[in-house]
Amino acid sequence: MIETPIPTAVPRYEIEEWRDLGVVAGITGRGTGSASFDLGFAGTTPVGMVMDHWRRFQESLPDFRSVTVSRQVHGTAIRWHPGGEGLVVQYGLDGHATEAPGALIAITVADCVPVYLLDPKERRVCLLHAGWKGTAAGILPAGIQEMAAHGSSVDNLLMHCGIAICGCCYEVGHEVFAACGVTLPTGPKGYLDLREVLMGQARRAGVTNISTSPFCSAHDSDRFFSHRASRGADGRMVAYLGLVA
Ligand SMILES: [Zn+2]
Repeated sequence: MIETPIPTAVPRYEIEEWRDLGVVAGITGRGTGSASFDLGFAGTTPVGMVMDHWRRFQESLPDFRSVTVSRQVHGTAIRWHPGGEGLVVQYGLDGHATEAPGALIAITVADCVPVYLLDPKERRVCLLHAGWKGTAAGILPAGIQEMAAHGSSVDNLLMHCGIAICGCCYEVGHEVFAACGVTLPTGPKGYLDLREVLMGQARRAGVTNISTSPFCSAHDSDRFFSHRASRGADGRMVAYLGLVA
């Protein structure tokens, strides 16, 4: 499945097939013009500008009364959100889940994989921030487990690996391969496809309906932010997921 540009003043790309299911699943882009659409809390963009971007992002999604995001720590903590109002900023979470229509859950990314989980039958969503550390620590099995614990059948889950750095652009050392349980490269470094690792984890957990984005944040860095391609200078995108009220 492919993220399609949405015609709003905010650079947004969304999965149309999921919109048909009453679900908004997307990611913001770099935007055009001199000021990039940075939504990161810890970068070099002045905080006033970042907050203005968040306001515009929220205003572009009037179907949602709240947006919940967290300062992320590359861990496996996932929290269920009942919904609320406005922008809710939490700490230490790398995963969010909700059953509340009108409650948007969000993560910040720039190369790490946003993993979208949807139970279209029971109407329940979970969004995970999966860099290599979170992937190695098992945030995806934890997310699948959370969905199952709330009553979802794993057979019904849809999973999408969103816009992230691809296997041709992500050169890492042995320790990353080892942590992710992947065969080590012959040299000291090798190229790792994190989305492939995550899809393997999902299949082992019993998820069969899996898709992946064709975009690479580094290849397609004219449209998306890439921490690696920019050598750390880029801002952050927001991946988001929610049930339309
Ligand atoms: Zn790439």
